[in-house]
Amino acid sequence: MTSIWNSALSRLSSKVAPQNYELWLRPIECKRIEGDRIFLRAPNQYVKLWFESNYLPIILDELRQEEEKDFRVEFEVLDLSPRVSSASVSPAPEPQEAPPIEQETPAKPPVPALKLNPKYTFNTFVAGPSNQLAHAAARAVSSIKPPKYNPLFICGGAGLGKTHLMHAIGHAILSHSSTTRILYLSGERFMNDFIQSVSTGRMPEFRRRYREDCDVLLLDDIQFIANKDSTQEEFFHTFNALHDEQRQIVLSADRKPSEIPDIAERLRTRFSMGLTADIEPPELEVRIAILQKKALAENIPLPDAVALFIAESIKSNVRELEGALIRLAAFASLTRREITLDFARETLEGVISRASERLTIEQVLKTVADYYHLRITDLKSERRHKSVARPRAIAMHLARKHTGESFPELGRAFGNKHHTTVLSACEKIDEKLKSDLSLRSEIHAIENLLRR
Ligand code: ADP
Ligand code: MG
Repeated sequence: MTSIWNSALSRLSSKVAPQNYELWLRPIECKRIEGDRIFLRAPNQYVKLWFESNYLPIILDELRQEEEKDFRVEFEVLDLSPRVSSASVSPAPEPQEAPPIEQETPAKPPVPALKLNPKYTFNTFVAGPSNQLAHAAARAVSSIKPPKYNPLFICGGAGLGKTHLMHAIGHAILSHSSTTRILYLSGERFMNDFIQSVSTGRMPEFRRRYREDCDVLLLDDIQFIANKDSTQEEFFHTFNALHDEQRQIVLSADRKPSEIPDIAERLRTRFSMGLTADIEPPELEVRIAILQKKALAENIPLPDAVALFIAESIKSNVRELEGALIRLAAFASLTRREITLDFARETLEGVISRASERLTIEQVLKTVADYYHLRITDLKSERRHKSVARPRAIAMHLARKHTGESFPELGRAFGNKHHTTVLSACEKIDEKLKSDLSLRSEIHAIENLLRR
């Protein structure tokens, strides 16, 4: 039975740099497979973690496609060296020699530092109907003690002000109690810190840092730890320790807790225990107000007509809205011209047409599904039958081309697949397009539909 594991592994080996294969894949031993359970053995906790976070999802994905079922993995860890202090290592080390592992341990662990952007305060935040609840809740958690909304979970699409609000909370708390110990970091940083700490035997420090020496935890982009079992497990305990002590926790994610795939149920319930505040794309008036506020702060003379023009052209992302303003100001100052409506039209032509032409992944999914008479859920599924797999690969290709989203983002949108799955689908289609005329015309036809 372990042969299915070995062949999945050897398929992966062609995609992984040889030294990484030696370091992180070869040391993992598949002991046996029983039903849907795979028993693996890792030489130490570090290899296990790294393997789990980086490679296991790909292999499970492959196995799911090959065998059409979901596998669960049970790990045994051999080396209980004192450097490793995690409580979850297995208690029975076998006297077998583990392969020598050159650990890529950077000199010092990335201890999270509190770096709050001085520009992200409540003063510079424009509140409006689209973000009212999140704004009010962020204000509330900055002043109410003991916490009333714990955790506060802020969710919404990219560039809508989640990070801005989290920093604003940090500033506000520090402004009236400067000794409050605040940790601000991203889910990704949390994971890296965790892995580093395990690998360097510094878990006691890690736990002290996040559980005892922390009064307020601001954890941004928590969706990152979806799929990362060990990190989720550690975060679960961090969360409980802080929550039990009535310390404020603020989390952000690009979607609601109920919509984050591959997150442990017990974490999902905890995320929803306090208050979930959704941020929607801002209304026109809010977009204008954001531009005016920014212009004022940066000393940019911005006529109302120009503000209206930009605000009407860029709708869904505040970061892009600000980007357009900065670009305009830079051009005006470089060319010594006044910011007028004509000047804005001329300067922002490219930026604006790109922003409005850009499609969303959902639009691509819908159009491709309609074209092939499938359901969107088919495209997001794991089904490998050609009638589904081919349209899915085409949808991935089109989404990559027309939305400008990253591979990880695309993977998430396609039913939480690993980014390399999307990458290899896109490459396959690119390759086929060179010779396959009927594929080319299908894709053209779908693109025409997308443009409508
Ligand atoms: P997210 O974390 O949701 O992706 P950010 O908080 O990084 O978004 O916001 C992107 C940019 O837009 C930042 O420069 C931020 O200051 C600005 N921004 C977003 N929403 C607002 C708002 N309501 N008022 C003022 N600036 C905003
Ligand atoms: Mg952010």
